[in-house]
Amino acid sequence: MKIALIAHDKKKPDMIKFAMDNKKFLEKHYLVATGTTGKLIKEKTGLEVYCYKSGPLGGDQEIGALVANGEVDMVFFFRDPLTSQPHEPDVNALLRLCDVYEIPLATNKNTAFHLLR
Ligand code: PGA
Repeated sequence: MKIALIAHDKKKPDMIKFAMDNKKFLEKHYLVATGTTGKLIKEKTGLEVYCYKSGPLGGDQEIGALVANGEVDMVFFFRDPLTSQPHEPDVNALLRLCDVYEIPLATNKNTAFHLLR
């Protein structure tokens, strides 16, 4: 499977923990991520991750294009609902495309936990 990993800044610790806790599962799949999230996951877990641009610089849209082209099987996007994001339209566009194409999407760590089970 191709799995996309994205986390807003305040949720990056959750994403690192999620990646560590599920390394055995994740290492069997092709991982893609937005720039900063992917770089951190690589550094902290040693997982291989293909990094797109940083989210605010277009990374969410790049992953959205993968979703639209049927190239992503699952999206883990740990959103920060308490901080306004300069790229909110891109975030909404990506979440919308996941629903358009019915791609499994986890927007917080507990949903992610259940999705993997
Ligand atoms: P980042 O982007 O991984 O480059 O921080 C995530 C986002 O804010 O969409």
